[in-house]
Amino acid sequence: MTLDVRLFPCLNDNYGLLVRDVGAGVVAAIDTPDAAVILDEVERSGWGRLDLILNTHWHPDHTQGNARLKAETGCEIVGPEEVRKAAPIDRVIAGGDTVMLGETVLEVTHAPGHTLGHVVYRSVADAQAFVGDVLFNLGCGRLFEGTPEQMHASLRTLAAWPDETVVWCAHEYTAANARFALTLDDRPEMAARAQAVFAMRARGEATVPTTIGAEKAFNPFLRAADAADFAARRAAKDVFAG
Ligand code: ZN
Ligand code: FE
Repeated sequence: MTLDVRLFPCLNDNYGLLVRDVGAGVVAAIDTPDAAVILDEVERSGWGRLDLILNTHWHPDHTQGNARLKAETGCEIVGPEEVRKAAPIDRVIAGGDTVMLGETVLEVTHAPGHTLGHVVYRSVADAQAFVGDVLFNLGCGRLFEGTPEQMHASLRTLAAWPDETVVWCAHEYTAANARFALTLDDRPEMAARAQAVFAMRARGEATVPTTIGAEKAFNPFLRAADAADFAARRAAKDVFAG
């Protein structure tokens, strides 16, 4: 039960993700921001196949490649019901379900807030999680559909995972998130973390993945005292221009 993960830029600030179960050689794409780029990455990886698409939520920057990838590879598309309003899907899953990627068991967790049907996928055995637009490095998704209370509860669920859990986020927003975090957190270790992020971005490096432990230590949304504090922080970030 080992997963290989390839992360690559798509669109303006999305990340594409290809995940391979090493034991069985089965390959999944987590979301489908750009079919052409994902097909190129399948080629570049040498993995030679795409068996599964795992959608996290319905937004077009996560589903718009579904139809073409299905047409070109015959892969199976799995995701929450809400994806149907944007893109084709073969099998609907919901929180509490599991999805097999070869020999790897992926647990499905409902994590509403960014959208109402948003799900995240996690291999407990590998301590790897694919969280779409719920949790970002030093940030979290905007509340397009859900309430602050829903998103706060979703983030609490993720924060309860083991600290070593590797978290694969769907966007590179970390520099802006770090600038916002600095407005709420004057600890020297926060400043050091932000400087490390800015240096990585200046070198053109991805700041994804992160870990649950790192996010619990620095993410201003996971550090919110309660749902009301979370709501205030999310509202402040929505209008933060820095
Ligand atoms: Zn989204
Ligand atoms: Fe997105």
